[in-house]
Amino acid sequence: MKITFYGAAGEVGRSCIMVESNDTRILLDAGIKLGEHTEYPLLPDSELATIDGIVISHAHLDHSGYLPHIYTAGYKGYTYTIKPTFELTNVLISDYVRISNPENIKREGILKMTKMHKLVEYHEEFRIKNLSIKLVPAGHILGSAMIEVNDGKHRLLYTGDVNFRTTRLLDPAYTEHLRADTLITESTYAGESDVFEGEKKTADMMVASINDTIKQGGKAIIPAFAVGRAQETLLLLDDYMRSGILQKVPIYMDGMIGKAMRIHRHNVIYCRDELQKRILLNDDDPFKSKNFNNVTTRQQRSRIMEGKESSIIVTTSGMITGGPIMKYLERCGNVPQNKLIIVGYQARGTIGRRLLEGAKEIFIDGKKVNISMTVERYHLSAHADKRQLMSFMSRIQGLKNVFLVHGEPGKQKEFQESLKDKYNVVIPQLAGDYTVN
Ligand SMILES: [Zn+2]
Ligand SMILES: [Zn+2]
Repeated sequence: MKITFYGAAGEVGRSCIMVESNDTRILLDAGIKLGEHTEYPLLPDSELATIDGIVISHAHLDHSGYLPHIYTAGYKGYTYTIKPTFELTNVLISDYVRISNPENIKREGILKMTKMHKLVEYHEEFRIKNLSIKLVPAGHILGSAMIEVNDGKHRLLYTGDVNFRTTRLLDPAYTEHLRADTLITESTYAGESDVFEGEKKTADMMVASINDTIKQGGKAIIPAFAVGRAQETLLLLDDYMRSGILQKVPIYMDGMIGKAMRIHRHNVIYCRDELQKRILLNDDDPFKSKNFNNVTTRQQRSRIMEGKESSIIVTTSGMITGGPIMKYLERCGNVPQNKLIIVGYQARGTIGRRLLEGAKEIFIDGKKVNISMTVERYHLSAHADKRQLMSFMSRIQGLKNVFLVHGEPGKQKEFQESLKDKYNVVIPQLAGDYTVN
């Protein structure tokens, strides 16, 4: 089995892995890397005609955003995903194309992408030419999957992005009966210091901090990925508000979050049981909570930004690389009573990362914006930490080779050190290919 890493090697972004065996070539993920400049996987277009199928682990653009280019450039095969991944991918990609209007994407490519699609179910084996594939739940976002590839001799498991905790929306990743000789694992939080407090304690602290901001008459602004973090954060805020711990103020959602909410609601069967029961038996639908207000027009956004009232604003983009969050920072960033609350991963080179590291001024469309609002971080990320990844690996029968992807080099080196006595651990090079036997 030959594996080539066209992206997500020593970085978080542009996940794109080619697996070749038995005269069959497939791609696991086809993502882009958003930042000041969008970066693409190093997969040459000339290879596209030789690919027999693409399997997407989940809808986030760092795993799916290259699909419209691939179809624009002439790929004629199918893409395989779980149903909500297909729906969410379409929403995220059309938003991305509308905002950035990338030159390498044509309308026909997007149309072809939506047509050449096959939906698969969790735990159901299917074939792409001579390879057998199975998707199992990854606990990361709605529809997210780990991907098993079996060529009859070797078994490979790719985590995509993975979470082993139960969240408000989802059950944790499926870890029963896993067998693989080769694992390709994300390592976003695989560093020595990446051991996190319990979710409840973090949420309590975050809500207390938002209450402080409200008391001071400020606005709490939470940048969040439209899919996943936004819904988890909104459901959390709604729970705390219903129980009276979080002071009652309007919660606004801006960007693609409302649309993604609706897709969650339609696909509640892919959410965890407790949430399904809550909706079906009690007619208590957190996705349609009265505490939420969808921002649909620019005028409405201006009123919220200029208004004196306190509020909580959950808006895209999650790493402050574009979208309505830029407007909120321009207008509200220099008011000390306001607070920016970071809940997700912030990649290097993003404004989100710079603000986390203490930047007091940022540039939006070439214009300097002073930041005097407080910036705080609460770790509510949907990724596994180091300890969880290690215990997951120990549950995989027959595991020999581990490839670390989707992580920062420093953290990956630390993780490699902790694993090297048990497995053959590789930190792959960008565009490097490796053969596993
Ligand atoms: Zn993700
Ligand atoms: Zn990712």
